[in-house]
Amino acid sequence: MEALVALPHWAVLSPLVTVIRGLNPGRMTLQGTNTYLIGTGAQRLLVDSGEGVPEYLPLLRDVLRQLGGISISHLLITHRHRDHTGGIRQVLETSSGPVSVWKRLTPRDPQQQAGAFNFNHIADNQLFKTEGATLRAIYTPGHTDDHVVFHLEEEDALFSGDSVLGQGSTTYEDLKQYMDSLKRTLEDCAKIDRIYPAHGPDLVDGRAVVEQYIQHRVQREQEILTVVTAANAGISSRGIVEIIYAKYNPEIWPAAEHSVKLHLQKLIEEKRLIESGRKHNALYSLPPSDKERL
Ligand SMILES: [Zn+2]
Repeated sequence: MEALVALPHWAVLSPLVTVIRGLNPGRMTLQGTNTYLIGTGAQRLLVDSGEGVPEYLPLLRDVLRQLGGISISHLLITHRHRDHTGGIRQVLETSSGPVSVWKRLTPRDPQQQAGAFNFNHIADNQLFKTEGATLRAIYTPGHTDDHVVFHLEEEDALFSGDSVLGQGSTTYEDLKQYMDSLKRTLEDCAKIDRIYPAHGPDLVDGRAVVEQYIQHRVQREQEILTVVTAANAGISSRGIVEIIYAKYNPEIWPAAEHSVKLHLQKLIEEKRLIESGRKHNALYSLPPSDKERL
C-alpha cells in the first residue's frame, strides 16, 4: 500500500471547514478518523466524533478555544462504526449547553436497549443549517446500512464518510448498495469540488474521484464476468481469484477472494450470474438464457 501522508492534528481547510483528527491511527483507520467543524458562527456543526481516545478531548477543546471560544450545537454521525461514534461523550463534554446528536437509524440500531445512545434520526435530504453553512444529508448505504454523506452547499463539497477515502480503498457490507449510493451521490450533487473524507487527506475534483471509484469496481466486475464466461462449466470464487490475481502474491488471495465474493453476490442479485452447489464449494456460471444468447 502507498505510504500515508503526514497530516497535522488540526487545520483550517477553508473559511467554513476545520478538520480535527481523531488521533486514532491504525491499519483500518489510516491516519485516524477526521472530525470536521463546520460553519462561521459561535455555534457550529461537527461531523463524526472519532474513536474516543483520551487525547482527542483536550485537542478539540483547544481548537474550540483558538477559534474564539466557539461551541458545538449539532453532532452529525456518518455511520455507526466505533471510530466515528466512540468520541460522542467527549464531544458532549465540550459544551455546557445541549448538543443534539444525529445519525441515520436502521433496524440494526439498538435504540430500545439499556445504555444505547439516543440518536435523532437523519432523514434523506435533511438540511442542517448553521451560520455560514448548509449541509444536506444523502443516505448512502453500502459501507454500512446506516451510512450518510453530507453535501456542503456553499462550497459544493462532500463529507464522504467512509464511502470515499483520502487514501487507500474502503470496505463494504453490500457492494450493490455501495455502488448504487455512489451513483446516487453523483446524481444528487450537481457539483462536487472538494471531498472531505473521514480518513486521509481532503481531495480536489471530487466528482472525478467518485467516478473513478465506480469505474474501478465496474472494471473488476467485467474481469470476473470474463473469467466466469470462459470457465463455461462453472468456477469457484477461489478459481476466479487464482486467474485474476495470478500475478500477485498468494498471501493476498484470501482478502482478494473476500472482495470477489462481494462482487459475485452483487452479480447474483442482478441475475447476471447464478450460483450452484453448497455454500463453501459454490460454483458460479452465467444464467442459462445468457448462454443461449452467446
Ligand atoms: Zn466505517
